[in-house]
Amino acid sequence: MTRKVDVLVAGGGMVGLPLGLALAQGGLTVAVADAAPAAAVLEPRFDGRVSALAYASVRMLAALGVWDALAPHAQPIHEILVTDGAIGRAPSPFSLHFDAQEVGANALGHIAENRHIRLALHDAVARTPKLALIAPNAVKRVSVEGGFATATLADGQAITASLVIAADGRESPLRAEAGIGKVGWSYPQTGIVATVEHEKPHNGVAYEHFLPSGPFAILPLPGNRASLVWTEAKTKAPSLLALDEAGFNAELARRFGDHLGVTRAAGPRWSYPLSFHIARDFVASRFALAGDAAHGIHPIAGQGLNLGLKDAAALAEVLLDAARLGQDIGALDVLKRYERWRRFDSVTLAASTDALNRLFSNDIAPLRAIRDIGLGIVDSIGPARRFFMRHAGGDVGKLPRLMKGEAA
Ligand SMILES: Cc1cc2nc3c(=O)[nH]c(=O)nc-3n(C[C@H](O)[C@H](O)[C@H](O)COP(=O)(O)OP(=O)(O)OC[C@H]3O[C@@H](n4cnc5c(N)ncnc54)[C@H](O)[C@@H]3O)c2cc1C
Repeated sequence: MTRKVDVLVAGGGMVGLPLGLALAQGGLTVAVADAAPAAAVLEPRFDGRVSALAYASVRMLAALGVWDALAPHAQPIHEILVTDGAIGRAPSPFSLHFDAQEVGANALGHIAENRHIRLALHDAVARTPKLALIAPNAVKRVSVEGGFATATLADGQAITASLVIAADGRESPLRAEAGIGKVGWSYPQTGIVATVEHEKPHNGVAYEHFLPSGPFAILPLPGNRASLVWTEAKTKAPSLLALDEAGFNAELARRFGDHLGVTRAAGPRWSYPLSFHIARDFVASRFALAGDAAHGIHPIAGQGLNLGLKDAAALAEVLLDAARLGQDIGALDVLKRYERWRRFDSVTLAASTDALNRLFSNDIAPLRAIRDIGLGIVDSIGPARRFFMRHAGGDVGKLPRLMKGEAA
């Protein structure tokens, strides 16, 4: 028998699940199908990354009933310090300093380990009767006919829905199947991720050192721990990842500095290929893209998930408003409202992160001078600093209701 829902979300990652929650809490019947088994996704070794959650994203997770379970594991960011540096050389005297107090806030955002975010999301899903998580079961095919989309899953079952949303990640098999092209390229860089333990307290300060091979971010975690997002040349990353513990810690110390005392990597190291892409269209008939399926950006500003959460909040708002007015939620004119809202913002942020990475990931002397002066100028102008802080917090552009902390 064919199962019927209002919306089928393909992909139950950190974008697909909040989207499913928002739609189901708004009164629609929703199924989220994911290719991976839920138990595997919740394993600590599945994803070593952390996410810097902008405060707009935190407000959204709170409105969805996810934040209470996540808050005890999240570290508030009180300050961010950005410096231009080189390995073994003193950092440039120009730096950029953001302080939450300057915008009258307690935190500029929060850092949470992805495994905790996934656990809190799965916990909320289990409490939402109108949302069914079907996993492991990949969506293999989607066809549109007679006012419905019908999805065929890996086990052969069919699900009909007014709309199928692909939140199936960077490679997005469904984006390709729908014939939606993308613009994109790979970076000659790898993201090395590891958790480190350090001697002195970090006091909620996040650091971003711009090194010639790419940004080196130190993101504070609860306790005397931090997560590294170490962007390294693709050619050099394998030898660094293969170093023994002492060798890896020595390379770490050369980049990390000694401001937090003795530092050592704890637990496994992960690596992620880095790439950029943006889908040519975000919607088609009875079909929409959200999260990394729509856009993939460089982690230099820690904004990929925040961007995806904003897609989820905006798409949920557009669909629930249409449903309340009795409109067909899969109609192209309804979906185009979402595309108009999100595509420009995504292209702008994607282009800025790409430009930042190109400007900072090199050791060319004139460029170093320009960017150092740039950092110094922004740091010396209060309104400019506050503008960047609002951006980092996600409070820019037209905010969806969920990101204001209201129900969708
Ligand atoms: C090194 C690194 C650091 C980062 N740091 C940050 C940060 O600090 N802050 C931030 O905001 N962002 C950060 N990001 C970006 C962020 O991790 C991603 O943007 C985010 O995880 C995207 O989530 P998603 O749900 O769209 O995709 P994914 O996490 O890729 O999820 C896709 C899901 O779809 C499923 N799937 C795939 N195919 C199918 C199918 N056919 N049918 C059903 N299911 C399917 C997969 O199993 C998966 O669960 C970082 C990225 C990297 C690489």
